[in-house]
Amino acid sequence: MTSFTGYRCSLCQAEYLPGQVTYTCPKDNGNLDVILDIDSIRQRYQPEDMVCRAEESLWRYLPLLPVQDPGGEGTPIRSAGWTPIYRLERIGQALGLDRLWLKDESRNPTASFKDRASALVVARGREVGADVIVTASTGNAGAALAGMAAAVGRKAVIFAPRNAPPAKVAQLLVFGARVILVDGTYDDAFDLSITASQAFGWYCRNTGYNPFTAEGKKTAALEIWEWQRSAGNNHVPLTVFVPVGDGNIISGIHKGFKDLLALGWLETMPRLIGVQAEGSAAIANAFNAGGEQVIPVQAKTVADSISVDLPRDGIRAVRAARETGGTYLTVGDDEILAAIAALGPAGIFAEPAGAASYAGLVSAVRQGLLSPGDPALVLNTGSGLKDVRSAMQAVPEAPVIEPTLAALKRIL
Ligand SMILES: *Cc1c(COP(=O)(O)O)cnc(C)c1O
Ligand SMILES: [Zn+2]
Repeated sequence: MTSFTGYRCSLCQAEYLPGQVTYTCPKDNGNLDVILDIDSIRQRYQPEDMVCRAEESLWRYLPLLPVQDPGGEGTPIRSAGWTPIYRLERIGQALGLDRLWLKDESRNPTASFKDRASALVVARGREVGADVIVTASTGNAGAALAGMAAAVGRKAVIFAPRNAPPAKVAQLLVFGARVILVDGTYDDAFDLSITASQAFGWYCRNTGYNPFTAEGKKTAALEIWEWQRSAGNNHVPLTVFVPVGDGNIISGIHKGFKDLLALGWLETMPRLIGVQAEGSAAIANAFNAGGEQVIPVQAKTVADSISVDLPRDGIRAVRAARETGGTYLTVGDDEILAAIAALGPAGIFAEPAGAASYAGLVSAVRQGLLSPGDPALVLNTGSGLKDVRSAMQAVPEAPVIEPTLAALKRIL
């Protein structure tokens, strides 16, 4: 028994029963929000019932999720989420911020935020009897699906652009997924994966298409809520910086906070600031134009995980910032690479998309969007090990010397 009662279209507000639709709204292709029976959750649970649970993963919030317990004890699907939140004290001081934190999503089982979404989709896949789950991916969503599916004995098919970073492709192959590299962009891979899923009856995980990804991603908001609550400052408005590509992470996080508000468990909605690469800024453009119309771009950025021509969850992503008093910021590739180098000394190794949120924070401080006392949290969404070539561009080269003390002295 879950509290999942149906879907609501984010465009036309039409409602559907759980078994009636699978992906987007049949009328207008709008993204579907999962509807939960908030009253029944409120009657059965208190916040204390969540925060006292022993499970150190996103499954500690199972009563707030639209799936049943997927099992898989002792496998990576049970360890998605529950990532650490680090205090960035020295970095904060240098920026003039007293309260700065980073939630390190690179600590997920396959080293990116995408594990949260894939864990939920694999759980849902079990319920709908899916043998094969397919996804388009710039790398991370695929690795997360491949890892989770392998852990519970399901097959994964991944469509990725052929120029995806080699480490990401290696990860897909090592997890035993059927990997198909598409001679085209992520958007081309996206379209082909949907056609293939229809042709072969595969269950499709695609971001901004399958409604369960946002439900997985919302668990980051639940963890941020629990962390603020345990620190006794859940009444303080927090600003959260989120890197944005398709817009599904920021919409998912928004959904998580909205569920908590509806339950009466959260006092103030955090301010959500979306960060896009200048070369892939379709959602930021829509936000800045004041409407909701998302016009595709020809994406080009070092941050491959947020390189998207046509964002698949753009409208909800615009709303996430607009309805929370947040905004969108864009950052250049040079700022993204500088952010990788800036986070390193705090012990954080981010891939370019993961560091983009910190680059956005630096920009926000420069523009006066944060006061010294404002608490802020940046998300590092993926590990630097995923894209070593970009990491090497962010830092100076190491010297190569003869193995002698004399040679060492010459360069010190
Ligand atoms: C997918 C991804 C993002 C962006 O998430 P969207 O839902 O596409 O906006 C950011 N960072 C990393 C590392 C990702 O893999
Ligand atoms: Zn609709």
